[in-house]
Amino acid sequence: MDTVRADRLGVYGYGKPTSPRLDAFATSGLVFENAYAQSSWTRPAMASLFTGLLPPAHRTVGRRSVLPEEAVTLAEILAANGYEGMGLVRNPNVGRAFGFAQGFSRFRSEDRDRDETMLNRVRLWLDARQSGEGPFFLYLHAIDPHGPYDPAPEFEQMFDAGDAPAHYRTVRYLLELNRGEVEPDEGTAEALSRLYDAEVAQNDRAFGELLDELEARGLAEGTAVIYVSDHGEEFEEHGRWEHGVSLYEEVLRIPLVMRLPGVPARRIETPAQHVDLLPTLLGYLGIDRPATDGRDLLAERRRGDDPPDVYTHLDVDGHRASSVIRGRYKLVLPQSPSQGTAPKLFDLETDPGELEDLASARPGIVERMLALLADHGLAGDVEPAVEIDDARIDEDLRRRLRALGYVD
Ligand SMILES: [Zn+2]
Repeated sequence: MDTVRADRLGVYGYGKPTSPRLDAFATSGLVFENAYAQSSWTRPAMASLFTGLLPPAHRTVGRRSVLPEEAVTLAEILAANGYEGMGLVRNPNVGRAFGFAQGFSRFRSEDRDRDETMLNRVRLWLDARQSGEGPFFLYLHAIDPHGPYDPAPEFEQMFDAGDAPAHYRTVRYLLELNRGEVEPDEGTAEALSRLYDAEVAQNDRAFGELLDELEARGLAEGTAVIYVSDHGEEFEEHGRWEHGVSLYEEVLRIPLVMRLPGVPARRIETPAQHVDLLPTLLGYLGIDRPATDGRDLLAERRRGDDPPDVYTHLDVDGHRASSVIRGRYKLVLPQSPSQGTAPKLFDLETDPGELEDLASARPGIVERMLALLADHGLAGDVEPAVEIDDARIDEDLRRRLRALGYVD
C-alpha cells in the first residue's frame, strides 16, 4: 500500500472503521506493532524493501534516481527459484523506468481508475496461469490513500468528509500548503484527515476483495500474504503535509502484517523495518539469502538481546535528513535548511509526538547516536547510483508523476 500510516488502521488502535478487512486478516497473521519505513517517500523505501539494503547501500536516492541493474532484488531471487513474478503498480515511482521491473516476467504500471481496477488485472493473470504450475510472486502497489484525496462518495459519507471544499481534493493544494504558498484554514488538517481516512477505507475494501479472490480460487491456505506500506502521511503534526518532507514518526510508522501459512498468529513489539522483508521472506521459503542490512523477523531473538536499531534517510527535492532510533531515543540529523540546523533528540517513550527536543539536555546520547549514523553512511551525502536519462521520461510518465504532485 502507498501512504498508509499505521495509526489510521484499527489493527493499530485507530477508533474509526477504516480497515475492517485488514483487522480481520490480522487476527490470523503476524502483526508488527513497531514497523518502520526506511524513507518517507516511495522510491528509496521500496528500494530498501526489494533489496534488504539501507539507502547508502542501494543509493536509490533523489528524484531522478533509478534502482541499479546490479541491485539484487527479491523479485529476481524468487524468479531464480522458480517463482513466476507479476508486478502491478499504480505509482510511477516504482515503474519500469526507475528499475523496479527487475525480476518480474510480467510488469504493468497503471494509474487509471482505482485500486479496485487492479483486482481485475489480478483475476485475468490468475486465470491465465490457472493451468500453470509452480509458485507465484504477485507484487501489488496500490495507491488510493496517496494525495489527491478523492474518495468515492459512499466512503466520503462514512467519514463525514463530504463538506471539504473542492480544492482540498487536489494535489496542487497539498503542494501549496507544503511550500507555504497558502495558509491552512482552522479545520484544514481535520478535513484532509477525513478525506484520507475515507481513501484508506476504500483501499481496505479492495484489499478485502483480493483476499476473497484468493479464497474463491482455493489459493488462500497456501499463499503468504504481506500487507505493508511504503511510508505514512503528515497532517500538520509538525507543520507540514503529505510526505517526503520530514522524518517524523507520522511518515515513518507503517503497517506490516503477514499471514504466513504454518506460522501462528501473534503481535510482535520488536521493531521491524523495510530491510527485514527480504531476509524474512527468503528465510521462510527456505531460499538462500544474500547479505543485507535487515534481519529475519521469524528468527528467535535471545532473551536480553537489544532491540534492533532503525535507520532512515531522506533526500528529495531539497529535503535531506537521516535518523536513527535506538531503544527509546530517536535522533534526527538535518542535512538541508528545510530540516533545521542542529540534530534533534526525542524520547519516544515519554514523547511519542516528538514535541520536545532533548538534544541540548543530553549531549552524550546525541554524540553516540551521531556516531551510529556515521557508521551506517548516514552522516553525509548519499550519491545516487544511477540517474534517469531525460529521454526516458516521456510525456506520459511526466504527466503521471505530476498527477501525484511530483513536479520537476
Ligand atoms: Zn509512496
